[in-house]
Amino acid sequence: MSFCIHGLAVSYGIAIGRAHLVSQATLEVSHYLLPGKHVEPEIARLEEALSEVRAELSGIKASAAAGAPSEVGAFVDVHLMILADPLICDEPKSLIRAHRCNAEWALVQQMERLVEQFDAIEDAYLRERRADVIQVVERVVKYLMGHPRSGRVRGKLDEPMIVVAHDLSPADTLDYRQHQIAGFVTDLGGPTSHTAIVARGLNIPAVVGSHHARELIRDEDMIIIDGSRGIVIIDPDQRTLDEYQLRARELELERSKLKRLKTTRAATLDGEDIALLANIELAADVAQVREVDADGIGLFRTEFLFLGRDTLPNEDEQFEAYRSVAQAMKGRPITIRTLDIGADKGLKGAQRIEPNPALGLRAIRYCLSEPQLFLTQLRAILRASHFGRVRLMLPMLVNGHEVDHALEMVEKAKEQLRAEKQKFDEGIEIGGMIEVPAAALALGVFLKRLSFLSIGTNDLIQYTLAVDRTDEAVAHLYDPIHPAVLRLIAQTIQGARRAGLPVAVCGAMAGEPQYTRLLLGMGLREFSMHPSQILEVKQEILRAEVGDLAMKVMRLLRVDEPEKLRDMIARINEG
Ligand code: PEP
Ligand code: MG
Repeated sequence: MSFCIHGLAVSYGIAIGRAHLVSQATLEVSHYLLPGKHVEPEIARLEEALSEVRAELSGIKASAAAGAPSEVGAFVDVHLMILADPLICDEPKSLIRAHRCNAEWALVQQMERLVEQFDAIEDAYLRERRADVIQVVERVVKYLMGHPRSGRVRGKLDEPMIVVAHDLSPADTLDYRQHQIAGFVTDLGGPTSHTAIVARGLNIPAVVGSHHARELIRDEDMIIIDGSRGIVIIDPDQRTLDEYQLRARELELERSKLKRLKTTRAATLDGEDIALLANIELAADVAQVREVDADGIGLFRTEFLFLGRDTLPNEDEQFEAYRSVAQAMKGRPITIRTLDIGADKGLKGAQRIEPNPALGLRAIRYCLSEPQLFLTQLRAILRASHFGRVRLMLPMLVNGHEVDHALEMVEKAKEQLRAEKQKFDEGIEIGGMIEVPAAALALGVFLKRLSFLSIGTNDLIQYTLAVDRTDEAVAHLYDPIHPAVLRLIAQTIQGARRAGLPVAVCGAMAGEPQYTRLLLGMGLREFSMHPSQILEVKQEILRAEVGDLAMKVMRLLRVDEPEKLRDMIARINEG
């Protein structure tokens, strides 16, 4: 019987195939007592397993080095480090000696002890490491129990396979690549979990955080993954299957057609040039940016360098990340946003429970309250500016004094660097994000102080409509085309243009083709989005005529009724 499981949409596309269930060896180990003379041979068996797994991981890393996203290598390195840790490679041996128990049991006991400690700490970064420890132990236990490597697939299936697992390590994800893997479904994981990042990098549709998929799906069930909606359909009826097969073919065709646009100039039918920039989270994302030949980076969300770790990245580590992006972009602009921490992006060991994090000490507010941390980042960005066209961007501005204070800090960082004879771009451009209604309404304050603006529609919508962008319960109220939101965006674009200041949109709206014409009509000429959306938006731009759109959008901005607005936008999109 057909049914659906919902999870998180983390890697787009459609996959259709047979389920390949990955077993969880650590749940299946038995416990037995060894006769005294078998203790040392049991330890030798464990040692052999550890060294085989070490070789296996090194092999995966080496064979993947060419085609895989670079963070994958780093994930495998983490697993190798865990494997070499005495807590994993020595402690179980003591357990075998002390309790005369079998190696699998000793390993799982030790893993459970460690996991318990992780649980008590309740820290996002350590939680991720907890999953790594489990994955490493799982691999060794599988070897001990004679299971095939998780990335090895039973031979007979010749249809595409969908891997269904409780959790997958990045090494597993990578290992599966050599087979015809169509997609991944996992019980655990979030949008930034390893599996999600690797799946996105490999362009494989994936749904994570599906809770009970591993329990509900049987081996070889027919499955459809709708990676854009986070849905898994099990045992679909013929009509659903036909529909999805058609959509998958259309998507494939669309993708290959879009690739041809890579080197096409992004200009409207009436010859207006449009800049298409990319949003990135990690330095490694630059590869994807270059694949679509983006005009630059409109938003580098630097907080991802700070998230999920014990210690803050020091100046040199940050500098290396920013410099590598600046150099890779070869003179094209890269807009580095200073730390936007807080709200849903909390630093490890946050000092206090905030009553309302989205309205609390977030982004520029946080940085100004932690001058040393801010100064370190500013110095790293300034140093990187010597290696490319770096621009600096301040998030979540509300008041002029925040800009003044931040500019003073930039001046201080520059003075320090001058004194140290470090090179940087003296004329570095400094801009700000307009993502709070107050900033959009009192724009003059920012026009006077900054060199460019970028509209963060994700937060602008959240703060205008009083809808928490992370809360599922109010997701239906999160409306990018609410008249109030549209007016604030239009007003900001027009205000900046009148003042002769470059203005971009870098929130999700910029990457959604259904809003391309609307934004063009408001006067927007710079769009910044996830690299995977650039070619689709370019296609919309090539078909649009801005002269015509400006008039239509002006009329639309006077409409209050959402239904009427929706109709008007649909008509604009029809041409
Ligand atoms: C935004 O708010 O639109 C934005 C681009 O920033 P972030 O999504 O990182 O908050
Ligand atoms: Mg924002």
